[in-house]
Amino acid sequence: MEEIFDCIILGGGPAGLSAGLYAARGNIKTAILDISTLGGQPVNYLEIENYLGFPTIEGWELSEKFENHADKFNITKFTNEEIQNIDLKSDIKTITTLKDTYKARTIILATGASASKLGIKGELEYTGKGVSYCAVCDGAFYKNKTVVVIGGGNAAVEEGMYLTKFASKVYIMHRRNELRADKIVQERAFKNDKIEFIFDTVPLEIIGENNRVSKIKCQNKITGEIKEIETDGVFPYIGFSPNTKYFNGQVLQDERGFVRVDENMRTSEVGVFAAGDVRRTPLRQVITAVADGAVAGFSAVKYLEEVEQMIKEEGILKV
Ligand code: NAP
Repeated sequence: MEEIFDCIILGGGPAGLSAGLYAARGNIKTAILDISTLGGQPVNYLEIENYLGFPTIEGWELSEKFENHADKFNITKFTNEEIQNIDLKSDIKTITTLKDTYKARTIILATGASASKLGIKGELEYTGKGVSYCAVCDGAFYKNKTVVVIGGGNAAVEEGMYLTKFASKVYIMHRRNELRADKIVQERAFKNDKIEFIFDTVPLEIIGENNRVSKIKCQNKITGEIKEIETDGVFPYIGFSPNTKYFNGQVLQDERGFVRVDENMRTSEVGVFAAGDVRRTPLRQVITAVADGAVAGFSAVKYLEEVEQMIKEEGILKV
């Protein structure tokens, strides 16, 4: 594609849509490019109850509101784009996908994060055959069955509670004896008699029979005891890793790969910004992603204004 955008936002989740809205309102030629459809992670969330102004809202509904809102502005959307290569280092940045090559003066990285893997034997083999990273998508398959959720954060405990709608028994296995989830979430789970917590325990192997998960082998870290628990499903909820595959090493990242930014969401590369779950941040929530996106979109507009100003004052070559 010959057209050069002022700003291309990679990722159409809450951070990307918010960045798009702020960039387009700043009157710069803006596009959002996503490997899938727009909406991002909240599409898979059940109910969100900590997005200000919406005491309870389903994830898909909030995502739809975000997209409808962004649609009111002049944003070009490229969806289902399989990225092959990204060049963030040149003055004009390029994104090569299977369909086309896209060019932009600024890029906002809003590619989010994906569920981390346990990295144990059987996990990959039984993914889709009893191992699932999405209770909302797969929960209904576990009617009157037993499932094991791994993790102790908000996601593990909330998704574990959701699974009790279908499953007759939900184990939540956590590697320590104290949950990381918010206290209010913990209290609700402790009251749910379908849930049994297995503390101080790590999963060792997912075992199957007839091409389906049948057991999980685990070890108590305190006693060293190894045992097998019969289960129909395993839902790992052990956090997220950043989606940086196509630009790893082109911007400064932390030891886990999250993109480092300053308070203006600027990365180490001029004209490249990052927002939402992909960046190093103490809190990964829809509300923080949306706020990041606003700052990143605003910063991209400011950056282009400054470049224009320099061109006028100093006659430097236009990027
Ligand atoms: P998280 O808060 O990082 O929790 C991950 C959990 O997995 C921790 O309990 C961790 O144990 C455990 N863990 C990590 N690696 C493990 C491994 N290799 N084996 C076994 N256990 C492992 O992740 P999250 O629950 O996915 O949440 C991510 C972010 O989204 C958080 O900021 C969370 O608050 C937010 N979130 C919010 C809501 C909500 O507010 N409604 C819902 C979902 C998620 P340790 O505790 O020992 O580290």
